[in-house]
Amino acid sequence: MRMMKKTIEKILDLIESTQRILITSHRDPDGDSIGSQLALDGFLRSLAKTTRIVNQGCLPLRYVFLDPQKRIENFNSVPKEKNFNFKPGVVFVLECPSLDRLGEVKKIVPAESRLINIDHHPDNEMFGTLNYVDPKAPAVGEMIYSLLKEYGFAISPMMANQIYAAILTDTGRFGYSNASARCLSNCAELIRLGADPKILTEKIYFNHSLAFLRLLGTILQRLEVKNGGKTCSVTIDRNLLSEFGVNNKEIEGIVDYSLFLGGVEIGLLFTETEKGKTKVSLRSHNAFDVSKLAKIFGGGGHKNAAGCTLNYDLAKAKKVIFDQILKFS
Ligand code: AMP
Ligand code: MN
Repeated sequence: MRMMKKTIEKILDLIESTQRILITSHRDPDGDSIGSQLALDGFLRSLAKTTRIVNQGCLPLRYVFLDPQKRIENFNSVPKEKNFNFKPGVVFVLECPSLDRLGEVKKIVPAESRLINIDHHPDNEMFGTLNYVDPKAPAVGEMIYSLLKEYGFAISPMMANQIYAAILTDTGRFGYSNASARCLSNCAELIRLGADPKILTEKIYFNHSLAFLRLLGTILQRLEVKNGGKTCSVTIDRNLLSEFGVNNKEIEGIVDYSLFLGGVEIGLLFTETEKGKTKVSLRSHNAFDVSKLAKIFGGGGHKNAAGCTLNYDLAKAKKVIFDQILKFS
């Protein structure tokens, strides 16, 4: 704990001595990475720093409201005139266990810049000049909150919402084992600072399009149960989204349905991202460590939420993963 406090102090010192700062996170950002980056950005800009947030991949629709000033840029669609002549003295890498997980953004991280690595993945590669890594933290959002508290920063209601959203989503709405007493008391403080649990829940979880719900119906119809009811998977093939007219920015969270069936221990989502390429999202209830499974296939993550991408079509990807699960159990 004392070590972490020292690291936070060093981070604050480094911020003080730097003007231009790049903030980034793992490709295809999720609720924790989005909320954390935006809250950190608000803090740095209030210190009159020049900042940019660049991620590879689009913002899922459910999180767009957290970024009213459109601060987060998608590396894949940054206009030519807004190129990367931005030379940061410091790069914050949030919620990202390795530099490879930055995807293309890795190319715009100058070799000479100092890296501040803030993460809660247990397999973090400690690649930073400073590494603030706490696998016990339920979300990076909570770590950003600790940083701002240490500084004595007056957190705005918007920032409280961004941090709360990070924690809300990474704890599965306070339903996973990482939803500790400390996490909930931090969230109580965030509510006092202006976070609005009702609006956040409504915007993040109860804001789907009709097309999405129809798609979900079909996906659930096709749900596959294996391994005596212990494994359940859902699948999104390439044509399904266009068939239903659903934007791929809306499908984040579908994997959660793989754990809805009573008795299931491992839940999976297979998404055909392009021909011959399948992304696998893995979830589990406490006992089974899905990060071990993901690692075998070059992926990673946490004990109860992990992912990997296979260069196989859907059928082959499923076979390979299910065979591996059988070997584990
Ligand atoms: P997802 O299934 O995409 O929601 O990801 C769940 C968790 O697994 C997150 O903590 C991700 O950072 C991690 N993860 C997902 N895909 C990969 C990958 N290809 N390599 C490493 N970690 C991943
Ligand atoms: Mn996280």
